[in-house]
This record gives sequence, C-alpha cells and structure tokens, in this order.
Amino acid sequence: MERIFGRPIVTQEEMRARIRELGKQITTDYTGKDFVLVGVLKGAYAFYADLARAIRIPMRVDFLMVMSDGARARKSGKVKMVTELTEDIKGKDVLLVEDIVDSGLTAQHLVKTLARKKPRSIKVCTLLSKPDGRIVDLVIDYVGFKIPNKYVVGYGLDYQQKYRNLPYLAVLDMEGEQE
Ligand code: 5GP
Repeated sequence: MERIFGRPIVTQEEMRARIRELGKQITTDYTGKDFVLVGVLKGAYAFYADLARAIRIPMRVDFLMVMSDGARARKSGKVKMVTELTEDIKGKDVLLVEDIVDSGLTAQHLVKTLARKKPRSIKVCTLLSKPDGRIVDLVIDYVGFKIPNKYVVGYGLDYQQKYRNLPYLAVLDMEGEQE
C-alpha cells in the first residue's frame, strides 16, 4: 500500500552533480556580497542542506516555514508563514531556496513579502521547476531541473507529509501498488 512511487526521475547522482554546479554558480555570483540563504521549509530542507554546503563563501542561513492548507490557499499563493526570519535582511543579498515552483504563486508571494523588508536584492533558486504549470510571470534565477507536470515526491517533497526522506525524486504513482 505504501509503495506508491516508482523509479527515480532524478537520481541521487544527478542531484549531486547539478547541486555542485549550482553551488559554483552561486559562489561566483555572490562573492563579496552580504549574502543570506533563506530556505523555505519544509520542502526545501534536503536541497538547502546540500546546496548550502556547495556554496563556498561566508553567508548567513535562515528559514521560513510556510504552510498552504488546501487547494484554495495554493491557488491564491497566499501561503501561511508559520515562522518569521530571524536575520535582518535589510540591505543584504537574499537568495530564496524553494523545493519546487509550479504555478509560481507561492514563490511570487514570498518574494513580495520579503521585499518589504528592503533587502538589497532578492533572487529565487529552486531545485525543481514545472514550466507547464506556470501562471505568473516569475523570474527564477537558478533552476536545478525542469520537470514535466507530474506530482513528485522525495528529496524533501511530500505526499501527505510522507516520503520527504526518499533519497531520490520519484513521480507519485497512485496506480503503482501492484508493482
Ligand atoms: P506553486 O505555488 O508554485 O503552484 O506551488 C508550489 C508548492 O506546491 C510547492 O512548494 C509544493 O508544496 C507544492 N507542489 C507543487 N508541485 C508539487 C509536486 O510535484 N510535489 C510536491 N510534493 N509538492 C508540489
């Protein structure tokens, strides 16, 4: 009953290699800046931990915990911020780390909310992007992988709060129980 995910669509090796590349790029882009890496929990926890260690410059770490209760909240992108930042980001260069950008509403809402705190810059990095799901015009500065419009789990992403600890990324397959 629990086996509702199939083969990896992104393997651990692919993930590691891509995160190394992103880390290098971010290191280059943020060298000399007052850099704050802000992770969006819970989904981004695994990606954040690996990405942060692939970035080779001094930085501050911070987190936002968000919850989107139900489809209505998700549609509006008005996710509830369960926790606030602990760092003062005014005048700093902020990189928001997301697990996945689908419609783009959540990321857009978070960028707008953080922008009110007057950072010097704010950019978005997401492990996964589903371009076919996009309904807002959002600039994403760093994308790990573009994936098709399917529901994925693992590597931080959940299905009903489970499967976040799966070490790879798999498409959720409700028909997969017979496997
Ligand atoms: P957006 O606001 O961009 O439409 O949706 C972003 C949020 O929807 C993500 O932070 C995540 O919580 C959820 N989401 C969208 N697609 C997926 C998916 O394929 N798998 C999982 N686990 N969550 C998803």
